[in-house]
Amino acid sequence: MSLPGNYAIIDNFVNGVRLKSDKYLDGFNPATGEVFLKIVDSGLSEAKEAINSAEKAFDSWSKTDINLRSKILLKIADLIEDRLDEFARAESLDQGKPAWLAKTLDIPRVIHNFRIFATAALHKRDRCHYMENQSAFSYTSKHPVGVALLISPWNLPLYLLTFKLAPALITGNTVVCKPSEFTSLTASMLCDVCNLAGLPPGVLNMVFGTGQKVGSHLVSDPRIKIVSFTGSTATAEKIRLASVTQNKKLSLELGGKNAAIVFEDCNLEKCLMTMLRSCFLNQGEICLCISRIFVQSGIYETFVKRFVEETKKIKVGDPNDDSNFMGALVSKEHYQKVTDYVQLARKEKISVLCGDEQLTLPGSHINGYFVRPHILTGMKDDSQLMQEEIFGPVVCVTSFDDELEVIKRANNSSYGLCATLWSENIHKVHRIARQLQVGTVWANCWMVRDLHVPFGGVKNSGVGKEGVVQSLNFFTETKTTCIQM
Ligand code: NAD
Repeated sequence: MSLPGNYAIIDNFVNGVRLKSDKYLDGFNPATGEVFLKIVDSGLSEAKEAINSAEKAFDSWSKTDINLRSKILLKIADLIEDRLDEFARAESLDQGKPAWLAKTLDIPRVIHNFRIFATAALHKRDRCHYMENQSAFSYTSKHPVGVALLISPWNLPLYLLTFKLAPALITGNTVVCKPSEFTSLTASMLCDVCNLAGLPPGVLNMVFGTGQKVGSHLVSDPRIKIVSFTGSTATAEKIRLASVTQNKKLSLELGGKNAAIVFEDCNLEKCLMTMLRSCFLNQGEICLCISRIFVQSGIYETFVKRFVEETKKIKVGDPNDDSNFMGALVSKEHYQKVTDYVQLARKEKISVLCGDEQLTLPGSHINGYFVRPHILTGMKDDSQLMQEEIFGPVVCVTSFDDELEVIKRANNSSYGLCATLWSENIHKVHRIARQLQVGTVWANCWMVRDLHVPFGGVKNSGVGKEGVVQSLNFFTETKTTCIQM
């Protein structure tokens, strides 16, 4: 695919214009391993410039009529929809995911993010209370926080960024965005769409480069009042430490080691088909992907046999070939990390039931970061493979006997993002869901997402929740005014 417009070089977008630089990082095409992009390698001065611009634009944008802000966001959604195919192809090219997936999941969700927040914020949530004995009444009002810093990861690049951007903008904040250095392309395209939609200069500023360099400068700037971060637990720790003395508002959406619990009384065929998606969609690079499967002993053998059979049928390869279910992993570093875990499994004599089958790739993809889906069995619950987030197409399967045992073992993780439960017994589903230490439980389904419900993890999987109400609250301060008559 040729790059849309002039996107071979990605420059920062500050105060509505592109700023040239003399320092660039290489951007790799995960499906070929070749450099196809140059991405500005921002540092301290670029961070300051972007924050200056956002700070200047804040007064005007925060006072702009919410109906106008809503119209602009809706326009952004329409313009992306007009270019859905182009955005989807760019996301696939940059991230390695199949183009069909970007076209049916990532980009439609981007459009939905803008539309839902543009309209939800028009419905007022303020309260008024009358105190008869004091002859006073109090009312609440919501106000933007200031300059918001939005830091996003590489797995669902534009989708996760806009899940922060839309609520931040509609509530009147101005923003500095720092997308992952591994996936800058669609974030860059979004800047031009925002200009076309009439978003005033300075309201959105996009800074590219590494997290360690420009990301940490942005986080530690005292003018940043609020940080919404999605990424790894290790990076969140750095952000938390850098923010602690400045009382920044923080939302942290982090990693997971999500369990599926499969009971003998489940609908096995539905479970198997959903399990394939939940383990291997987007190459297993979704924070919600299942990586530990606990199967009740009576159906363990059958489950494993069928799961391996179906997994072996998964096609991996060219992201532009719609018959491939999986594309390439995002980067060489990530490819190394995932394949190191497979090596560790072999070293620890853990059974690798599939994943070694030959990949037949055309010449241009020979150096791409492709990994077939792997199923492991025979590991202990405390092994690294059961405890650490691999974030790729590697899943551990183990058996259990009873409810109490499996709840304890599923909760034996420092993470707590989500879990799936498979049983036709509704009482059992409720009983177990209550006891799982996670933010979301899906029963007999996976990743069925309604933005009206809170989303986020517990334990090392995060602090705070995202969702229509939760995000609108996070990006605003609530003020109470009390008047005595
Ligand atoms: P990462 O933590 O390495 O990077 C995330 C972002 O933080 C990137 O933009 C990066 O440049 C930036 N960053 C890195 N160091 C920084 C620093 N010191 N200061 C400021 N910014 C910094 O994570 P990743 O590898 O891009 O993403 C994968 C992780 O994200 C996985 O752990 C995955 O589970 C998690 N994730 C969580 C959710 C969720 O909603 N809970 C969703 C998607 C991904």
